[in-house]
Amino acid sequence: MSILRTANFVFHGALQDFRPDSERNLPVQLTFQPGQTCKHLVESLGAPHTEIAQVRVNGEVVDFSYQVRDGDQVEVYPPGPGQLWESDPARLRFVLDNHLGKLAVYLRMLGFDAVYRNDFDDQALAEICQEQGRILLTRDRRLLMRSQVQRGYWLRSKTPRLQVIEVARRYGLQAHIRPFDRCMGCNTPLQPVKKEDILHRLQPLTRLYFDDYSICPGCERIYWKGSHYQRMSGFIEELKANF
Ligand SMILES: [Zn+2]
Repeated sequence: MSILRTANFVFHGALQDFRPDSERNLPVQLTFQPGQTCKHLVESLGAPHTEIAQVRVNGEVVDFSYQVRDGDQVEVYPPGPGQLWESDPARLRFVLDNHLGKLAVYLRMLGFDAVYRNDFDDQALAEICQEQGRILLTRDRRLLMRSQVQRGYWLRSKTPRLQVIEVARRYGLQAHIRPFDRCMGCNTPLQPVKKEDILHRLQPLTRLYFDDYSICPGCERIYWKGSHYQRMSGFIEELKANF
């Protein structure tokens, strides 16, 4: 028969967001069966591994596979101030959970590669993360606890406009924005297209006032710098002021 073990857990900084309100800033004493990994125990207390930058046990840095022992002091840290989750802009590729369609449009509008469909199940999302090295954005913390999901973020807000600000701050997106570079409908990078090649698809006034067009090779949607473009530019400036 096994004897139960007890360890203390302390969650620092933004990791408090995963603790019940009544227990914020309090250490947690956890009793458990022997042979449990650090990942399992920390996640059982609510914080997905994707949110954690470092774990220290009795002052020493350990990895998630560490088996927690009786009497351990476990300290769990988010990244330090100014420390980025992703320093390589080429790795800023996202996949979004089913409920985040609007956020996907905003990220694409800013030029970021954001895969989204409203019918991916949890397994499909986790596989896309693993196979394509994408960052999973979700409001479902259980999904982030899957081992296949190496990189991801639990959105605090339910409001798309605030969500895009959260993502921008977490991943330092400000420096890498390329507005109107990507199709907002299907995520494909846009290509310039000659006006005469698409003339038959343009409304008379559009044809009259605009000469520069882009087309999406994925869904054939046409883009030009009309009134919607002006509105979105204003929106982007407003967002950037908050990044
Ligand atoms: Zn498209």
